[in-house]
Amino acid sequence: MSAALLDRFPEVDPRDPAAILAAARVAIDGRIVFTTSFGLEDQVITHLIASAGFAIDIATIDTGRLFAETYEVWARTEERYGLRIRSVHPDADGLATLLDAQGVNGFYASVAARKACCETRKVVPLGHMLAGTSAWVTGLRADQSGTRAVVSPWSRDEARNILKVSPLAGWSRAEAVAFADRHDVPRNALHAQGFLSIGCAPCTRAVAPGEPERAGRWWWETEAGGECGLHVGPDGRLVRSRAPAAEEVPA
Ligand code: SF4
Repeated sequence: MSAALLDRFPEVDPRDPAAILAAARVAIDGRIVFTTSFGLEDQVITHLIASAGFAIDIATIDTGRLFAETYEVWARTEERYGLRIRSVHPDADGLATLLDAQGVNGFYASVAARKACCETRKVVPLGHMLAGTSAWVTGLRADQSGTRAVVSPWSRDEARNILKVSPLAGWSRAEAVAFADRHDVPRNALHAQGFLSIGCAPCTRAVAPGEPERAGRWWWETEAGGECGLHVGPDGRLVRSRAPAAEEVPA
């Protein structure tokens, strides 16, 4: 993706997710993939893609440790929009090696063990999913956490050499909720139980009123920055998503 192409995007309203998706589809040749984890923001983006009929593939990483409620909203979403959401899964040999090394819940033992699990169950499958793809659509919002405060609608994932499109970068959670209410977007039942950010079942808890949105992710860790590796660089540091060139901050 050339810098010249990135330069065209500032003409699009950064707070209009439908316009961002439309501009991405017009400007970018080749396959575009949206990865959903079936949380609120991702459901809004699925609604926008499906309703407008954008030629953007919707896919998910089935880590094998998802909540039952996530599988339920996955099925409900396919039914509502009449589509199939493609899934990728951890490699069987890689998973066996991981479990041999740390046991089935070994990710609680240390940050390194947790990152090894995320690597096997999420990062490697994501790499397979994005192989040969021109652009990656994500549900990141800038105000989800301090580490995501620099998320912008257009950026490059330098580690994967791919354009990253985050249509909801400029939205608040309240705006996403209002949109979902207005359009009757299918929602993960966990949100009503206090879960704001939804990931794997053993690594996600509900948050108390006033807690940061991502406080429920890997809550037992204090030093890792609450990220799983999908949005970090090859050296393990969080990748800022400010176009045109990614910068980094300590995780
Ligand atoms: S979130 Fe937890 S269970 Fe899921 S891949 Fe990461 S460490 Fe493993």
